[in-house]
Amino acid sequence: MHLYNSLSRSLEEFSPAGAPATIYVCGITPYDTTHLGHAFTYCSADLLVRYLNFRGHPVRYVQNVTDIDDDILRAADRASQDWRALGNRWTAHFIRDMLALNVRPPDHLPRASEVIPEILRDVQRLLDCGAAYVSGGSVYYDLRTRPDYGRLSHLAAEEMLPLANERGNRADDPHKRHPLDFVLWQAQAPGEPAWDSPWGPGRPGWHIECSTMAGKFLGETVDIHAGGVDLIFPHHESEIAQAEPLSGRAFVRCWMHIAMVEYQGQKMSKSLGNLVMVRDLLSRWSPDALRLYLASHHYRSAWAYDEDRLRAAQLRAEALLAAAGRPGRGAGTPSAGSTESNAEPELSRPASGGPRVKPLDPDAARRRFRQAMEADLDAPGALSALEGLAAHIQGLTDQGPAADAARSLLRELAAVLGLRLGSEPEPLVTQGWGLHLQKFQAKGANRRVEQFMAQALTGVHRHAVEPPHFPWQLRVRGRQSDA
Ligand code: ZN
Repeated sequence: MHLYNSLSRSLEEFSPAGAPATIYVCGITPYDTTHLGHAFTYCSADLLVRYLNFRGHPVRYVQNVTDIDDDILRAADRASQDWRALGNRWTAHFIRDMLALNVRPPDHLPRASEVIPEILRDVQRLLDCGAAYVSGGSVYYDLRTRPDYGRLSHLAAEEMLPLANERGNRADDPHKRHPLDFVLWQAQAPGEPAWDSPWGPGRPGWHIECSTMAGKFLGETVDIHAGGVDLIFPHHESEIAQAEPLSGRAFVRCWMHIAMVEYQGQKMSKSLGNLVMVRDLLSRWSPDALRLYLASHHYRSAWAYDEDRLRAAQLRAEALLAAAGRPGRGAGTPSAGSTESNAEPELSRPASGGPRVKPLDPDAARRRFRQAMEADLDAPGALSALEGLAAHIQGLTDQGPAADAARSLLRELAAVLGLRLGSEPEPLVTQGWGLHLQKFQAKGANRRVEQFMAQALTGVHRHAVEPPHFPWQLRVRGRQSDA
């Protein structure tokens, strides 16, 4: 398959270096709820995981939780809550949304605060090899030792500082030798949580947690490292600078970056306050409608939230469901109890609400689906093949074994795009997230985990072709990055 590599800025033939394929995706900073931009990032990563699985590649997938940083501490302060409790609460909300969206869980979901010993070791090794220096109780990366800094972002030297400053760099920190040097270990400020270190009490910088976790769980070279496009600089650029002097090898084989979602003319972000929340969308639309809406955009193309297109996606999801029939059976209606159980069959209108699609026989549909996914995960192209297959099924007059086989193929391919089409949740999804959830629940709350899971999977939308009016609550946030 071909994937676009941000490092070479070109499409490259990709195959995993071994089994399993190793994937690292930068995770959330849990101090607020999941918005549509997050959903696009993690559902796009889910397409990658699911497609590699579909191709027969096992995957080892790590996603971090940045549970200690300035944003968390500010939010905990505002809420008069312990920073750990706040992080756990919002991580649990994130898990609930990922469950509802049928996103396969990472194998490891470590918090930054769980890998402090490994971070201390890596910071010490960077000091030992001369890539870092101690100043004022903090440890900084010395960028003079890294002439190729900017290799990933393709930024000229003079472009870096303004962008880094926009994204949290403290250029005026008097302890730094160069305004672009970034902190590996941050000295404790009064009242802040801290861990002991050889350089005094403090906490890890943001960039070091990801390169350390990638090394700990996936080894020195990762097959694919993904994240939002706004993380290329300085976050991913700095991860390369941290990892490569320690291993002497390439840190990542393919850098995958997911485009931003816009709303009201700008990137959707906490700092701008123009957020569309996943939970609000799921109270109005089915999870399949939202997954289909996300999959109708290529992961590298920025797009703007448009409610009319989401409404059309609901109809398109219902048309696929009608063509797929009852899970595990041949022809029939959707399963009772599924969230889409009231869907009307749309037999005469292929891909209702969506673009008109040409009927495709099953062989052609499978071929076109694979061709699209092989070409840099072209989910819109794959979706069109799926809808062509649905149109073929809807046009069949003979409901014999050939129709059953076509329906079964439709379900198989739809699952690669994360669509459930009325089937039961995948055990892989529920069990995997269930295990992660236990870590973020208060001790002794295991019983609540099951209730929480049930709520995540059923406490969302009940069929809404014409949804009730539900005014947006736009939340105004502090002016901090929400990466
Ligand atoms: Zn990261």
